[in-house]
Amino acid sequence: MSGYVAPLKDMRFVLNELAGLAEVAKLPGYQDATPDTVDAILEEASKFASEILDPINYSGDQEGSIWNDGSVATPKGFRQAYQQYVQGGWGALPFEPDLGGQGLPKLVATAVEEMLTASNMSFSLCPLLTQGAIHALELCGSDELKQAYLGKMIQGTWTGTMNLTEPQAGSDLALVRTKAERSGKHYLISGQKIFITYGEHDMAENILHLVLARTPDAPEGVKGISLFLVPKFLLKPDGAPGERNGARCASIEHKLGIHASPTAVMVFDQAVGYLVGEENKGLSYMFIMMNAARFSVGLEGVAIAERAFQRALAFAKERLQGKDLVEGGQTVPIIRHPDVRRMLMLMKSQTEAMRALAYTTAAALDFSHKTKDKQHQAFVDLMIPVVKGWCTETGIEVASLGVQVHGGMGFIEETGAAQHLRDARITTIYEGTTGIQAMDLVGRKIAREGGATVREWISVLHKLDAELGKSGNADIKAIRASLAAGAQAVSDCVDYIVANAGKDVKGVFAGAVPFLKLMGIVAGGWQMARAALVAEKKMEAGEKSFLQAKIKTARFYAEHVLVQAPALRDTVVKGGAGVMALSDEQFLAA
Ligand SMILES: Cc1cc2nc3c(=O)[nH]c(=O)nc-3n(C[C@H](O)[C@H](O)[C@H](O)COP(=O)(O)OP(=O)(O)OC[C@H]3O[C@@H](n4cnc5c(N)ncnc54)[C@H](O)[C@@H]3O)c2cc1C
Repeated sequence: MSGYVAPLKDMRFVLNELAGLAEVAKLPGYQDATPDTVDAILEEASKFASEILDPINYSGDQEGSIWNDGSVATPKGFRQAYQQYVQGGWGALPFEPDLGGQGLPKLVATAVEEMLTASNMSFSLCPLLTQGAIHALELCGSDELKQAYLGKMIQGTWTGTMNLTEPQAGSDLALVRTKAERSGKHYLISGQKIFITYGEHDMAENILHLVLARTPDAPEGVKGISLFLVPKFLLKPDGAPGERNGARCASIEHKLGIHASPTAVMVFDQAVGYLVGEENKGLSYMFIMMNAARFSVGLEGVAIAERAFQRALAFAKERLQGKDLVEGGQTVPIIRHPDVRRMLMLMKSQTEAMRALAYTTAAALDFSHKTKDKQHQAFVDLMIPVVKGWCTETGIEVASLGVQVHGGMGFIEETGAAQHLRDARITTIYEGTTGIQAMDLVGRKIAREGGATVREWISVLHKLDAELGKSGNADIKAIRASLAAGAQAVSDCVDYIVANAGKDVKGVFAGAVPFLKLMGIVAGGWQMARAALVAEKKMEAGEKSFLQAKIKTARFYAEHVLVQAPALRDTVVKGGAGVMALSDEQFLAA
């Protein structure tokens, strides 16, 4: 079974040439992100991923986490790996130094996160949820809560969870029923939450649950939801974990994938909880966690795609089957067959496009965070559902291609290819399904503001078109043609959405997921076109083989992926009526 090797060359190319690390490092507070420091971090993270997390990925999947009378044992090696994660300070990378963080840009943390996730997605979920909880507390918690909890969470000694889902409240959080009754300075929380990632485990000394609940006099719906911090162990006066709180894990789920990550049913029985921020504003605070988590789940799509690609490539170089179509002779490795090449190129090109889009969005997050510039934030808001929805849907496709490259062995568990597909499958569901992301994109991010931000972005594509037009390179000409058609397709859809969202919301929302896919493949094409231009300019001074491959990969992407844009436009603009064409009775009769 092939091991994970972080794609450092491509990561550095994207960080430096596309996401603008040098500019990010000039932002106030990011002066430590010098090229040498970033390089050292990437090297160390890559070692941690390959040497510590990757070796326990397959065994963790086979063994799974095990529930026993309210406790959960993670698979062999997870606790030790988590200790090393804490000792390495990996969780502290993007947080402010005055809270014990390392003050590095989100962009750098994103590259590290990709490596941890690619090598062991189940493991990476614990830090992912913790980081979301830190963000929410940082922005909305009282000084007292921050003082008591943030330091240990940033260190990683204590972990965090996100408790939204209840049996009757999934995508629709207006239906949350968990109760919170005031009792002196704190609240008593009662109710049941399901599907809580790392709701219980043995890797940290305390678990801090961020829980959505309602106070008795709260208004109906989302306007009556508040956010509470509910520790597993209440703190003693000296700040150390003491008495057990009334938050217990009733069971963990048996799942299709991410077996090592415990997905807990949590029962809160008069558990002590502390209000985060103000009453009834919980959902807006939770959105802070969700936005960070949505970005990270999008990155899971990139990471799994990279891992699946590496595994498929290694197999394709070794598996002997069939003869070369032209040369005949001996049996050859399957990588010599055009269709296997096609699959590998689909995997590689889409992975690179997704990585570039995700890292560019991370850089915009840094700019928005440090400069409070509204344009950067608007770009981030537009792209978060695209990164989440498109990268995860594509991650599944890429993992599925990985199985296909393996043939029958891909369907057999020992190769590890099947695990990637099983693990990837959750990514389009949690943190808001693709349907929910697409409605957010079409409704909140486009229709509500009359398409202003997306049109800004389309004008960026037009500027790039002019740049591409200056090149005499045949590959870049082909990329330009495909990108221009893609930009036109997005523009047509935006006109349609803005004109029709008010009068035919069902028709417009029926095309929301195809539109999200269109946005994703065009945004990916935008990044690949930029990459090809940089590669052309750097060809003389840079590493030729890598740069030539970049241009060829970008052209492949343009002709095999981006080329789907006009058809998707037709689906968005004309297909809505067809989605709703059958009556409820006709569905029932079927
Ligand atoms: C492994 C795992 C880990 C998880 N971790 C966490 C966690 O840590 N914390 C947490 O709180 N939750 C967690 N979840 C829950 C997860 O976020 C929900 O499963 C998800 O939000 C979807 O909710 P649901 O399962 O109730 O599906 P439903 O909301 O019932 O949706 C079912 C289908 O209907 C569609 N749908 C629903 N409403 C609409 C609508 N208005 N318009 C269009 N389509 C719609 C959905 O897209 C979906 O296809 C986890 C789930 C799993 C499986």
